[in-house]
Amino acid sequence: MSTSIHTRNAYLPEADYLQYIDGVWVGGSGSFEAVDPSVGTPWAVVPQGSTADVERAVAAARSAFRGWRKTTLDRRQAILLAIADRFESGGERFASLLATENGRPIREAFIADIPTVQAVFRFYAGAIRAFNGEQVPLANPDTLLYTKREPLGVVAAVLSWNSPLITFANKVAPALAGGNTIVVKPSEYASVSILEFVAMIADLLPPGVLNIVTGVGPETGAALVSHPDVAKITFTGGPSTAKAILGSAAGALTPSLMELGGKGPMIVAADADLEIAVQDALMGIYLANGEACIASSRLLLHDDIHDEFVARFTDVARRIAVGDATDPGTEVGPLVSRLQLDLVRGHLDRARGEGVSVLVGDEPLDLDPSLAGGFYQRPVLLADPDGRATITRTEVFGPVTVAERFSSDEEAVARANSTRYGLAAGVWTRDLRRAHRMADELDAGIVWVNRWFDLPPGMPMGGRGDSGFGRELSFETLREYTAVKSVNIDLSVERHPLWGLSEA
Ligand code: NAD
Repeated sequence: MSTSIHTRNAYLPEADYLQYIDGVWVGGSGSFEAVDPSVGTPWAVVPQGSTADVERAVAAARSAFRGWRKTTLDRRQAILLAIADRFESGGERFASLLATENGRPIREAFIADIPTVQAVFRFYAGAIRAFNGEQVPLANPDTLLYTKREPLGVVAAVLSWNSPLITFANKVAPALAGGNTIVVKPSEYASVSILEFVAMIADLLPPGVLNIVTGVGPETGAALVSHPDVAKITFTGGPSTAKAILGSAAGALTPSLMELGGKGPMIVAADADLEIAVQDALMGIYLANGEACIASSRLLLHDDIHDEFVARFTDVARRIAVGDATDPGTEVGPLVSRLQLDLVRGHLDRARGEGVSVLVGDEPLDLDPSLAGGFYQRPVLLADPDGRATITRTEVFGPVTVAERFSSDEEAVARANSTRYGLAAGVWTRDLRRAHRMADELDAGIVWVNRWFDLPPGMPMGGRGDSGFGRELSFETLREYTAVKSVNIDLSVERHPLWGLSEA
């Protein structure tokens, strides 16, 4: 199914965009065009940041750190709350901006991005007030040992394009709450939402505390992550970029947080509530056009319910409205870029070549001619009963999931754990023991039981293996953006000398 002719609700910028360094809006060494993926034409002009821009941004953040680290918790809390309030009252226009920028259906901004960004800033505004050091009990009663949590310095944040504002909030809010300053390099595919967000809240922060440099990864991003004055790298993106970044981080021994890809297995047991499981599976793979690290891109279905599950799933998947992301009726929009569309098609071609059958998604799309230049992929369901094809182990990052069969819990868990990823996994069952056993046995940073995609602030989010390391979205995250200092105090009243004991 596809959407029909409608009036576009695309975002129209008032001028070319600028970077934000040390409280001032500045150009770059050049510029590049942002492309609206619904129609495949340019819609905004973004600066290409140079190494000199990165240098100035890091220097500004370093200088601002001297004052920002000393700000009271009251002040930091008030600023984070003010950012959330500002976004709450002015955030609606970001819905069409996000849809124009990366092809996410506009309705999703109201379900996910806009409320989540506010919630994340508010969460850290509160969490930082409860983030204490410890007084450590020791064998020696004459020692008072306590720990403090101190800011690190300049944080370098490199973002992906798929949920730009949420990713921005997940990094900026805890970094600022912890007393750090930050330089953000958004994705070249999603810089405008970040620049517009910062324009909206810039007056709330002292100059240099939050800086934005834009540009392509191997140039602007590489200059930022290799900078010796960066105290922490926080990255969201793919595993191969992560390896390049960690290579350069090694040069300056810069600690890093890595939020990478996933291949989320959803296990549906024979006793599952099928109606809920099918709805969750549809949302798990088709929300965000499947361009989500936590997508449910593998469906492990018990033999007894496999056929019915597939029948119910395909019935809905066939009817999903594909079209212009800025149309409120669209359920799956275009992929972010021509490159991403080609990558997804490449995965599908390879899967077909390996004998995987296409249950849904092979029919041509019947789109309005005005959308002919867009990067559209119909929602796909594949069948690979034994889970042998490459596509069961590789991240597609598009609206593509694959149905596999299993006959025992042990087989389901072994198959779910058979990839190098370990981000999100899920189990649908009415059996409490099965749920807890699988939650223990699944190799993943997140295990959902009878739900998917629920990520409330407070719930640690992150992976293992090729899905990265470090946790976002939670109290735990404040540890990522602070360092422990131990303060050891001697309380003894007498000190027995250890030196000069022999007679001269
Ligand atoms: P990507 O790795 O291509 O790019 C991410 C960022 O890295 C971009 O800003 C890019 O400009 C920058 N970059 C590229 N090369 C660089 C280099 N050499 N040095 C420094 N920076 C460089 O990823 P993407 O295509 O933007 O995003 C998709 C990937 O992100 C998927 O694998 C997805 O699973 C992952 N992702 C993970 C999470 C999570 O929280 N775990 C969330 C969203 C996306």
